[in-house]
Amino acid sequence: MFDIKQALSNRVKSLGESATLKMARMATELKNKGVDVVDMSLGEPDFNTPDVIKNAAKLAIDQNWTRYSPVPGYLDLRQAICDKFKRDQKVEFTPDQIVVSTGAKQSIANVLLALLNPGDEVLVPGPFWVSYRDMIEFMGGRTVEVPTTIESNFKLNIDQLMQLKGNYKAFLFSNPCNPSGNLLTQKDLDQLLPFFLKHKDMVIISDEIYEYIFFDEKAGSMTAYPELRDRVVIVNGVSKGQCMTGWRLGYMAGPKEIAAACSKIQGQFTSGTSSITQRAAITAMKMEVSEFESMRLAFKKRAGLIFEELKQIAHLKTNKPEGAFYIFPDISNFLGKHYEGKKIKDTTEFCLYMLESHHLAMTPGDAFGAPNSIRLSFATSEDKIREACSRLKRGLEQLK
Ligand code: PMP
Ligand code: GLU
Repeated sequence: MFDIKQALSNRVKSLGESATLKMARMATELKNKGVDVVDMSLGEPDFNTPDVIKNAAKLAIDQNWTRYSPVPGYLDLRQAICDKFKRDQKVEFTPDQIVVSTGAKQSIANVLLALLNPGDEVLVPGPFWVSYRDMIEFMGGRTVEVPTTIESNFKLNIDQLMQLKGNYKAFLFSNPCNPSGNLLTQKDLDQLLPFFLKHKDMVIISDEIYEYIFFDEKAGSMTAYPELRDRVVIVNGVSKGQCMTGWRLGYMAGPKEIAAACSKIQGQFTSGTSSITQRAAITAMKMEVSEFESMRLAFKKRAGLIFEELKQIAHLKTNKPEGAFYIFPDISNFLGKHYEGKKIKDTTEFCLYMLESHHLAMTPGDAFGAPNSIRLSFATSEDKIREACSRLKRGLEQLK
């Protein structure tokens, strides 16, 4: 008899489901059954898209911006992205260096597809965003993790980087970081420069999607180094800073050759992203970080609140978020303990236990290459944050 599972490619069989989306799906399933779940799993702003952006989309529909767009995005949108780089990072890009995609997720996939041959190694500081490793491996590449520790607030260390001896194709990281909430300032990045200069053939992919969400000092940008411009690719988008997760628009900016390769790939797979979203994104690009100040300050307040609450929990180690909307506590003191006779071996089992027994959804650190940590997204109200922390405390206390 035909076995449909056998028809699936080896490549797709070895691909995991995105852990963030999986936890969010499980939390929603439980909520739909009427359970009062506190959902700290998914990273998306709980603020609405600003009205000016929504109005631009409505106008675009009325003006019949409803046909296929150029594969890399409308020229005036790509120009608006260049203008944003000029305004925010003080660097020049030209539209032929930009490719607009259906989310930053697709931008990262395009760039990796454009660069990787089977066996190529990609350096990824850990903990890393959930999809990086799966994407790299799906494309036949190998992920080489550079671990960082909670004790150093997940900061990269130049001495450790200088010891890396391989021939790496690319270096991929997010700053501010998902999942740790760590942030590298421009000064922090300056210290890493000798490492980037040492690996002369390594393309640096800097995922700056949380650029607008910082609490004290803003994150540095990899655009700042003229000596690296011919091999730096920036990924950014409108999902986080502009509260447009569902609109699906991200972009890459980098050397023309890489942009052209991304455009070629996208032309075969998906074409240009939604014409209406693109028109709305022109307005979004014109909005400066100061126009999102109330959201930024709300996230900063929540970061302080969740840090203080988690600090009170005995035997839980926690970091202090500096950007994005995640906190990444270490539960190693609790792994191996039991609940109702069942051993909690790893963070996935711990998160399942917390969801089922305490109705708190979080994402296991395993998915981010951090087997001792759990990620809580604090893109939610202060009341929910307090409730989440008290459920986590109760859940940890009940482990024997
Ligand atoms: N990079 C990081 C670090 C993210 O957290 C996300 C959020 N999903 C993405 C990329 C993808 O964002 P987008 O919604 O634009 O696909
Ligand atoms: N970036 C978000 C997160 O990490 C969205 C989920 C996803 O796209 O995987 O939760």
